[in-house]
Amino acid sequence: MSIAERTARERQLDACAAVVEGCRKCAIGGTRKHSVYGEGDPMAALMVVGEGPGETEDQLGRPFVGRAGELLDRMLLAIDLPREDVYICNTVKCRPTLFDGARLRNRAPEPDEMANCRAYLDEQIAIIRPRVILALGAPAAKSFLGPKFAITRQRGQWYVGPHDIPLMVSFHPAYVLRQTGGELNAVKRLVWDDLRAVRTRLDEPTAVPEAAAAEPEALQPDLFGA
Ligand code: URA
Repeated sequence: MSIAERTARERQLDACAAVVEGCRKCAIGGTRKHSVYGEGDPMAALMVVGEGPGETEDQLGRPFVGRAGELLDRMLLAIDLPREDVYICNTVKCRPTLFDGARLRNRAPEPDEMANCRAYLDEQIAIIRPRVILALGAPAAKSFLGPKFAITRQRGQWYVGPHDIPLMVSFHPAYVLRQTGGELNAVKRLVWDDLRAVRTRLDEPTAVPEAAAAEPEALQPDLFGA
């Protein structure tokens, strides 16, 4: 696609990000340091949608830049996708927090916060029109597939997302980081299956013989080192 198209998309995304920066629909709009609109390639074939910004993301105004973000970067690289080639965002653009008496802690977004932010996510999808959406974690999956979605049973399958875009659901990297021992290995294998399905889907229309012939396991560098 043309440079003009890229520039047009960048401008649209910048304009939407400015609207989000001024948004105070939810209480967390008043407690966050920065809104975290999203970042990446406006022409990306893959859009990753997480749950919501955490503390580091709130401080920096960028999605997935804490520990979970480091793992996400490795997960993407494991399927030959540098972070810069992907568009990364969240179901909510402000950090959902809980005051525990001493400090603000991260929490999952509430359904009303996801509903308030949904139009912003839909705009991002409409502008970027990725070939595949990867939803990470139950909140992101539920925002697309409804409140009854059960991630343990229903991840790893293809769903139809907005604009008929193929949607894959996998575990959130923060969840992977919380696992230990045999559980960690089991979860990493499931995530790896999901990532390979995404890679295969992205390769479909433009499959090159060498890529088709490659051993899938050859891409597996210590299961992204988590
Ligand atoms: N977790 C998320 O879901 N999103 C981020 O941006 C960071 C951590």
